[in-house]
Amino acid sequence: MRTPFIAGNWKMYKTVAETVNFVKEFRALVKDIDGVDVVLAPPFTSVHAAVEAARNSNVAIAAQDMHWEAEGAFTGAISASMIREAGAEYVIIGHSERRTLFGETDATVNRKVGAALSAELVPIVCVGETLAEREANETFAVLDRQVQTGLEGLTPDQIAQIIVAYEPVWAIGTGRTATAGQAEEAHGHIRQQLQAGFSAEAAEACRLIYGGSVKPANTAELIAQPDVDGALVGGASLEIASFLEIVASTV
Ligand code: PEP
Repeated sequence: MRTPFIAGNWKMYKTVAETVNFVKEFRALVKDIDGVDVVLAPPFTSVHAAVEAARNSNVAIAAQDMHWEAEGAFTGAISASMIREAGAEYVIIGHSERRTLFGETDATVNRKVGAALSAELVPIVCVGETLAEREANETFAVLDRQVQTGLEGLTPDQIAQIIVAYEPVWAIGTGRTATAGQAEEAHGHIRQQLQAGFSAEAAEACRLIYGGSVKPANTAELIAQPDVDGALVGGASLEIASFLEIVASTV
């Protein structure tokens, strides 16, 4: 039985003060909600403050990206060990905004995933097709390439620990959510790929979460699908009430 996993990706929203206020209020509201892993991913500047505000609660903190090198002349970049030292437990890797706006590739995703695991961060690895790729019937081919290259070299034990987020690009920030059937079809396909490439046990244990205009009104139907283990939530994670409703609808 896989524990549901709900993560909020705040993108470039919220100051340190706003983060601390959110986490302090939110942790009290979810303190009695068991049986779901809840994660917030603030901007880098707020990671440490978020960790402190969430200490001894059932809210964990993620970073939104990282560099694969441990240190060096990489102006503006942050390493996995820096994120870990700041207290985060997770890191989002390969978000479609990183791929389209910042040149992230499956190869850089792969290097980052390896570096995250070495630093004892759990990667939340994002994959997903564009609208043009879906319309050209290339969804499965795109997912296969992203999963195979992005996760190349991982052991079955590592696959069992990581989170894979299926985020169709056409559904991110557009208000257009994949139907539960579309999400299940893609998640089922990814799980088959993990089984073929790693092991049946690893594929069974790996949590596959859906992202793309998740809202309180559509969460329950999405995560009721057998291969949908949770959600990566953008816009609806910025408000306490909507993110709380999403978390509560998983249990
Ligand atoms: C995201 O940023 O990963 C995302 C899914 O955003 P939204 O929920 O706003 O579509």
